[in-house]
Amino acid sequence: MKVHEYQAKELLGSAGVAVPEGIVITRADEAAAAYEKLGGGLIVVKAQVHAGGRGKGVAIGPDDDRDAAIEIASGRKPRPDSMAKGVQLVRSASEARTAAASLLGKTLVTYQTGSQGQVVSKVLVTVGHEIARELYLGMAVDRGLQCPVLMASTEGGVEIETVAQKTPEKIHREPVDIGIGLADFQARKVCKALGLSGDSAKKGAVFLKNFVQLVIKTDASLAEINPLIVTASGDVLALDCKLNFDDNAAFRHPELVAMLDEAEEDPAELRAGRIGLSYVSLDGDIACLVNGAGLAMSTMDLIKYHGGEPANFLDVGGGANKDQVLEGFRILLSEPRVKAVLVNIFGGIMKCDTIAAALLAAYDELDFRVPLVVRLEGTNVDKGKALLKESGRKIITADGLTDAAQKVVAAAKGAA
Ligand code: GDP
Ligand code: MG
Repeated sequence: MKVHEYQAKELLGSAGVAVPEGIVITRADEAAAAYEKLGGGLIVVKAQVHAGGRGKGVAIGPDDDRDAAIEIASGRKPRPDSMAKGVQLVRSASEARTAAASLLGKTLVTYQTGSQGQVVSKVLVTVGHEIARELYLGMAVDRGLQCPVLMASTEGGVEIETVAQKTPEKIHREPVDIGIGLADFQARKVCKALGLSGDSAKKGAVFLKNFVQLVIKTDASLAEINPLIVTASGDVLALDCKLNFDDNAAFRHPELVAMLDEAEEDPAELRAGRIGLSYVSLDGDIACLVNGAGLAMSTMDLIKYHGGEPANFLDVGGGANKDQVLEGFRILLSEPRVKAVLVNIFGGIMKCDTIAAALLAAYDELDFRVPLVVRLEGTNVDKGKALLKESGRKIITADGLTDAAQKVVAAAKGAA
């Protein structure tokens, strides 16, 4: 689960991590008051969307060219003056208002959103700081080391992916024991790697320890502060923050779940999540209903191998019942780009004849506007296949994965 920058900063602030003060607004006419309330001077107006790269991103209207926007946001084309950036520095109340108006209600396209962009419905108005140094801080789970690792680099502000690729030695990695948090000696080591000394090192150590503690306490799967800045007066502050939380730990964090902004999520993914199904939306035209993530991956590989493109996959898990299969199909069919559906199920816990009966019930209840290809394997497979064949419904049955992939790719092309 993702949260907005302003929410991440609220969490940082309450954990004792230094962040600039800020006010969230939803209407441009609230910007001037927010500017004054924050004390004026240098203020930053920032679009709140669940994506990074906002500084280089562009806010566009319904008539603007989205493909041109993604070229600009990725730095491949120059930005025309008419296109507003997702992060703007302002120096007066009227500039703050203009900046907020240039973002609210617009679609922000960044290199992370893709050309469809994200609609901006909230803007963070926050105190701006003169930057002496821009640093990077991140924390993620290292599967090899089996623990979270704090990553720190003096190369902040830029895309850390490029640093990791070209100059990995510039990223300091500090493994963290979740029972202890960041120990004092580790905090000093990381401060040294970041080139912090004197008072900044003292502030930096407190910052780092509290940041690590927050990441552990909230079950964050990814935390990133880019840039972490040092001001001219030696203060250490989080100018930007991204936090992702582990969905598997959501049950013990109702306060975090309450922060979810549903407008930022894929509606089909939300709908599936509510009934305990995992749904992933993709770009192609073949919908996949499968059981198990591994089977989903191989199903998509085979579809692509045979020249098709998956539109999504819906994982109904080991014990999906008729209601879940029904709702699963409803979600898949609600995507207008879907031209064929492939059901690929291994009947282990659930028997194939039970699945076949659920499929038939769903088929009769729903309006199947596209071809349906079914491949079943496992317990009672013969009974399951016989049920489908004898049903007289227009269901294409397949033997094996290759046959299924070939049939569904052909069906999607035929229906195109
Ligand atoms: P992102 O592009 O989505 O990662 O958004 P950021 O919050 O990281 O902001 C993008 C860039 O705007 C930063 O890398 C800074 O260069 C600049 N920026 C943001 N806040 C301030 C500020 O308070 N002062 C100055 N001078 N620059 C800022
Ligand atoms: Mg950033």
